Amino acid sequence: MIPKMNLHNHTNFSDGAWSPFEIIQKACDENLDIIGISDHLQTTKTPSVKIEDLPNYIEHIENLKAQFKNKIKVVSGIEIDSCPDRSPFVRDLSSFLHDSGSFYLDYVLVEYIGDPLWDGLSLDEFIKIRNKWDKTVGLAHWNPEYLLETLGLEKLVKSISESDLFIEITSFSRYNRNGISPFERERPLFKRLAELGVKFAVGSDTHDDLDDVARITNEINYLEDLGANIVSFDDKK
Ligand SMILES: [Zn+2]
Repeated sequence: MIPKMNLHNHTNFSDGAWSPFEIIQKACDENLDIIGISDHLQTTKTPSVKIEDLPNYIEHIENLKAQFKNKIKVVSGIEIDSCPDRSPFVRDLSSFLHDSGSFYLDYVLVEYIGDPLWDGLSLDEFIKIRNKWDKTVGLAHWNPEYLLETLGLEKLVKSISESDLFIEITSFSRYNRNGISPFERERPLFKRLAELGVKFAVGSDTHDDLDDVARITNEINYLEDLGANIVSFDDKK
């Protein structure tokens, strides 16, 4: 059974409308098993958590983890814009992401890898950068369309399956065509990645609509159907 999870939620720490408490409370009310907070890290694209405020943001979520301990699993994440012009730290984040003391970040989401419309880093360059991060890292609202065009199917399957990256399946409709999501359009690719052991997660990219927190059912069912492995978070403290 795949846990009812949503790893992609923005709050008023960046460009979301709700507080982390409100997002987590909503996830509890909707009987989710795992809820992740994943605000934007410093980017000129949108309001975001400044790099020097990252410890405060993490501490805030740590307190909520304790508060909700017996009700739901809370995990702390951050979303990184992979365009170096907007996100100046993307190539040199390893020191900022290093855990120490009460600073512990459960995962990192990265957006726009290989996406020419958003000037994201190439997959090859990003994998080299990612390997310096001692973190669980996933590709946010993954749309393989451009990577398929530039790399071709075999190279893409090889690169992703040999990398230490999870794939986020999203209910966010930005990449839908005629109402069909990228993961439905490219089902054979996702199926192959699942068979090769690539891990997956579900995220809704919640910003303003609190109901998005629980908008995960189709995505969970899809991953069940694929027989996919899910990214997991060990208790480390
Ligand atoms: Zn997002």
